[in-house]
Amino acid sequence: MKTNNFEQFNLKKEILSSIEKLGYKTPTEVQEKVIPLVLKNKDVIVKSKTGSGKTAAFAIPLCEKIELLSNNPKALILTPTRELCVQVKEDITNIGRLNRIRCAAIFGKQPFKAQVDELKQRVHIVVGTPGRTLDHINRGTINLEEIKYLVIDEADEMLNMGFIEEVEEIINKLPKDRTTMLFSATIPEEIEYLCNKHMNAYEKVDVNTEAVTNENISDACYIVEEKNKYTFLRDLTYVSNPESCIIFCNTREKVELVTSRLRANKYSVNCLHGGMQQNDRLNVIKSFKRGEFSFLVATDVLARGIDVEKVSLIVSYNIPLEKESYVHRIGRAGRSGEKGKAITLVTPYEDKFLKEIEQYIGRKIEILQELDKTNIEKAKEAFHKKQLEVPKIKKDKAFELNKEVCKLYISAGKKKKIRAIDIVGTISSIEGINGEDIGIIDIQDNFSYVDILNKKEKLVVEALKNKTIKGKKVRCEKAEK
Ligand code: AMP
Repeated sequence: MKTNNFEQFNLKKEILSSIEKLGYKTPTEVQEKVIPLVLKNKDVIVKSKTGSGKTAAFAIPLCEKIELLSNNPKALILTPTRELCVQVKEDITNIGRLNRIRCAAIFGKQPFKAQVDELKQRVHIVVGTPGRTLDHINRGTINLEEIKYLVIDEADEMLNMGFIEEVEEIINKLPKDRTTMLFSATIPEEIEYLCNKHMNAYEKVDVNTEAVTNENISDACYIVEEKNKYTFLRDLTYVSNPESCIIFCNTREKVELVTSRLRANKYSVNCLHGGMQQNDRLNVIKSFKRGEFSFLVATDVLARGIDVEKVSLIVSYNIPLEKESYVHRIGRAGRSGEKGKAITLVTPYEDKFLKEIEQYIGRKIEILQELDKTNIEKAKEAFHKKQLEVPKIKKDKAFELNKEVCKLYISAGKKKKIRAIDIVGTISSIEGINGEDIGIIDIQDNFSYVDILNKKEKLVVEALKNKTIKGKKVRCEKAEK
């Protein structure tokens, strides 16, 4: 019999099945320690790094514990950045999908109305950035009366970004009878104060600071004059010829400059920084995750929490001026046990920053002298050949899971006064279908989506040709995405 080490937590069969389909076989250290505590509704402060599997450490017990038959959100998760917000929503949706957990992401620079519409439907878990979450609270478009779980993710980053007051304002609006989880890579005084003020007797979980990520990354730096950096970068990429590579710069201008030079040199490259439109930012991350291009030049917007598989090379084109960023940047490689290399380009006048980083991480970073350029011409040829290849699109993490669930499109929505209950009513009246086969329902203005489980989608599509929903004839077909 196939065993999965998550069985020890006595989870619902749907949750266990999602975990298996996502390919998680053994809980990571943070999951091992945190899941049992949250299942017992204990407040926790977790010191752990990104890449340690911490999202699933809170997502699994939340999906397990949340009551499905309630119209108002039961859990609120606060994240510092919009990108992380979207990623956490995706992780939760994957873990809770077979159990019909619905999760919404609310973050700035996205139309407010679409978020309001989504919040009006049955949503179990909300992930939000502090500013937009407060906006919804103040405008009365989110109901927090039934919140039983609060997760503050990347708390130290919230503090760095100046969000801690907004976080506190949100906490003050939540029911007191709740379980609170706080995740942070470091626990500065201000965070400790916040915990003491707003949490019940909590357990502290300190996950081995050498997280999974770091053991798999070898890091080093080269001393390079600013004016020679670009040529150096090119040589480095020829020699390394990475599948996927992230290049961090300290400013938007530098990001754009390096990107345009790489583009002119026929690299398969794109960029990401805070000055871009939010949708462009999300699209760039999505297509980088899918492997549609191999070089991403970014500011530290990308350094926190963003999870891309198979990034084998991280280059800090500029040494980070904040020591914490170093750890976050290199943490983008070597995710879930893969091997990665992190190279920092340091100018001869930047010793001070290097020393600060070394002090912070508690070890020396190897300084390498020259790149080995013996076979550089050959390497360059191989490199450009690879850049011209049609990219291999990476399999979505949820690929196996998606095979279990089929999203159907139905040609009627809110404007025809269709509600979730009407769709459930009609579909469950089909012979051979019961409530267990119907998953998440999403009602938009002119159409709706419904997840059908257990491979019964064909049966539903056929049967709906001869049935009506709320007395209306509808067209039903497999949704495109
Ligand atoms: P996080 O620290 O939450 O960003 O997770 C880092 C990466 O590890 C993500 O790609 C997760 O999908 C993956 N992951 C989380 N838990 C496990 C697990 N138990 N086994 C394998 N991969 C995992």
